[in-house]
Parts: sequence; C-alpha cells; structure tokens
Amino acid sequence: SLTISTRTNVNLDNKAKLLGGLLTTGFDEASCISRVQSHLYRKVSPHKPSPYLISKLRDYEEIHRRCGPTTRAYERSMRKIVGPKNSGTAATCKYLIWKPVNGLGNQMISLAATFLYAILTDRVLLVKFGKDKHDLFCEPFLNSTWILPEKSPLGNEHHIPTYQILLQTDKGSNSKMNLPSVLFINLQYTYDYPENFFHCDHSQDLLSKIPLLILMSDQYFVPSLFMNPFFNVEINKMFPEKDTIFHHLGRYLFQPSNEPWELISKYYQAHLAKADERIGLQIRVFSPTTTPQQAIMNLVLSCTLNHKILPTVDLQTSLSWVGKNKTVKAVLVASLYQEYGDNLRRMYLKKPTASGEFIEVYQPSHEAKQKFNDNKHNIKALMEMYLLSLSDVLVTTSLSTFGYVAQGLGNLKPWFLHRLVSNNTHFPPCEQDFSLEPCYHAPPKHYCDGKSLKDFVSFSYLKKCKDFSSGVKLV
Ligand code: GDP
Repeated sequence: SLTISTRTNVNLDNKAKLLGGLLTTGFDEASCISRVQSHLYRKVSPHKPSPYLISKLRDYEEIHRRCGPTTRAYERSMRKIVGPKNSGTAATCKYLIWKPVNGLGNQMISLAATFLYAILTDRVLLVKFGKDKHDLFCEPFLNSTWILPEKSPLGNEHHIPTYQILLQTDKGSNSKMNLPSVLFINLQYTYDYPENFFHCDHSQDLLSKIPLLILMSDQYFVPSLFMNPFFNVEINKMFPEKDTIFHHLGRYLFQPSNEPWELISKYYQAHLAKADERIGLQIRVFSPTTTPQQAIMNLVLSCTLNHKILPTVDLQTSLSWVGKNKTVKAVLVASLYQEYGDNLRRMYLKKPTASGEFIEVYQPSHEAKQKFNDNKHNIKALMEMYLLSLSDVLVTTSLSTFGYVAQGLGNLKPWFLHRLVSNNTHFPPCEQDFSLEPCYHAPPKHYCDGKSLKDFVSFSYLKKCKDFSSGVKLV
C-alpha cells in the first residue's frame, strides 16, 4: 500500500506541476526551474483548463515545432514571404510577430492576447524581444523557440504596408486587391485611437490571406476577438469559464526564467511564506507631480481599513502589550516609491493593531521611475507582479496593467484603488472587481456595418470595466 500511495502522490504532484494539463512534459527541468516549482508557491487553481483548450495548446505546440525558427519549413516559408511578389501566398507556414510597446504589464497582457489570436488563426507566434527581455521568461514551446531570430529576413520595417492603409484601399476599390505578404498592424492604445474593425469578419478574411503579420499592441484585445462570430465559437469551446482566459494563457506563457525565479522564490520564502495571510498592495501613481503623497496614502488607508483588509492601530495601548491573536499578515507593497512601504511599516511599528494581529510590511524595490530597455528593471517588475499574484487578498490601482497581470495569474478579484490625479477625495476609495480578466482599454466603437457601438449589452459575457468605463472585459 505504501507504493500505491506514493505513486498517487507522484501523480498528484505531476498533475499540479503541469497545472491541470495546461503544461506539457518533456522540458529540461534545470533550464526552467519555475516550471517545476511554481505549483509549490501557488494555490491550485480551481479553474481547470478545458480538454479542448489543452488539445488546442498541444496542436499549437506541434505547429510551432514544425514551423518555428531553425526549421527548414521556417527558412522555406520566409524565403517565399520576402521573395518575389505574390510568392508569399505559397508559404507553408503562417506567422504572427508580436512587437512590444509600453511597460511590461501592457506587454504581457497584449502578448497573451496575441497568442490567442495565433491559436485561432493557425499562425506561429514569434516575439521580438530586445535585450531588456533577455532571460525574463522561459521558452514556452517545447523543442523550439518563440524568439524572432535577430537575422530575420524582414529587413527595413518602415517599408512594410500597414493595416490602416489596407483598410482604406479596400474601402476605395471594388476590384480585387493585391494583398501584401507582410503587413503591420498597430493596435496600440492612443487617446483618440482610430477604429480598426479588427473584430470584423471582413478584416479577418483579408488578414487570413497574408502569411506574415506583425502586430504591435499594448492592449488585451481578447474582447474584440470574442466579438468575431467565428472566433467566438472557438473561444467559447476553449474557455467555458470566460473570465479565465488570461489566467490560463498567462500561466502557460509566462514562466519566469531562472534569474527572476531565484529572486521571487527567495523573497517569498524569506518574507511571505510564514505569514498567515498575504496582502498584495500595488500603488501605481500615474501623475506623481500633481498627486500629493499624503492623498494617496489616505486613499490606501481608507480602502484597506474600511474593507478590513488591514486592521486599524490601537492608539490606547502601547506596543509592549502582546496581542492574544498571534496572526501575522504580511503586506507586499509594489510601488515605484519607497515612501509608501515606509509609511505603512512605520504606522504598524509604533502601535499594536486593534485586532491584535501583527502586520509586516515588505517592499522589494523602489525604482523611482519607469525605465525603458532595462533588463534589471524588468526583472524587478516581473518579480513584483508575480509576488503580488501569490497574495490572498489583492489591492491594485485602477487602470494599471501591472495590476491586471497579478490579478489574472493569481486568480484574484482585486480591490481597485481609485485613480487619483490630484488632491481630491470624494469617491469610494476602492471597489472590488468582478472578473479575473484584464480590461481592454480600446474596444471597438462601431459595429462592423459602421453603426456606432455605445455599450456592449448586445454581446453576452462582455461588460464595462469597473476601473475604466470606456473599457470592456469578459466575465
Ligand atoms: P501600467 O503602466 O501600470 O499599466 O503598467 P506597465 O507594467 O505597463 O508599465 C509600468 C512600468 O513601470 C512597469 O513595467 C515597471 O517597469 C514600472 N513600474 C511601475 N510600477 C512598478 C512597481 O510597483 N514596481 C516595479 N518594480 N516597477 C514598476
């Protein structure tokens, strides 16, 4: 019986390791330690990946292995794609190159959306990572790479036709268009983003004939895929629980590579593992020059104290009084600014809490400002998004994609702190989200027939985001 029970444990352990079948076996364990260890840090997800999702992932891995860089199919297809006019349509494999823009949180949510788009369109996903993302994530696809080779045959990107031009030409001409074999699609958020009709059958039909797409986005555009009737059917089959798309795809794609994983696991063990409860607190200040620090601190306290996420301090008793309740709550503060962690720590150092709980405050870094093209900076950002995702209760800042990543990976419905931009105070300090999914900040403003699209009530499972009313997300 001993052998049987050991075997059962090994099986259970394997199942947990592979995240319910989301991940596949066969990887070299030493090359990506987080892949085998992350289940020791995370609670088992109550959301099981569907058998259909699992089969789509295994199919995708097979296409990637067959068509990915270093294969003959890749060489052959690329030659045809960049070769003489119209030879591209004969390419055996189709590609989708993801191009990063904006911060790491934005990049991760848009990369997950792009991966889903690749699966839905039978394309091979390649990522254009600069040195700033070197050694951040493990290779997600067995026996292949997702990194676009530096010597890609694309040459000067500036000469590549764009999706917007294609749309205009398409509208203007009745005759059959000559489609390019490479196309650049920009889905980045701008204040006044142009309608792109990306969700429409007509656009997707055109795009399907182009063997290589380069997609640049900082958005989680999954809701727009969901609005397309063909993709909708597939997404419904893959994700019976609509709000678990990023949760599953994020856990599948973003395994921290060994350097960030060592930082994450050591930090967790040293400070968070022994606590009875872990609270993640992400304080993102979007307008640091116009928002006084005290206003933000007041907002954080009024949210966490009102909702009993943190206990009040007991002003009557001195610290020498030892709490009956020896519960320890560890607060992980993620912020660019050191003051927030310091203030909170000071508050709980001087006085005991009314509940008798012990509050420990940790802040792994304070980078002072967002840095671009900086590998060490990105490693810290990944570390903190990941640590936040290991919380039991999460408080994030409205509109921050950094927070969205933690939310989705962690299976958490966070409290969104109001997005403060000045010293004002009249609003609920925070509200709890209703879905695990990231918010799509730039959803379509029109139906495919050009009629204006004001809200999303005609689309089931799509709901206005709590933290950004022009945005939409899956529930
Ligand atoms: P968003 O701007 O909040 O939606 O999140 P992004 O991740 O897209 O961009 C913000 C970037 O600023 C991050 O990627 C980091 O580079 C940096 N940053 C912002 N807040 C933090 C933080 O709390 N910790 C760390 N380490 N970096 C941060």
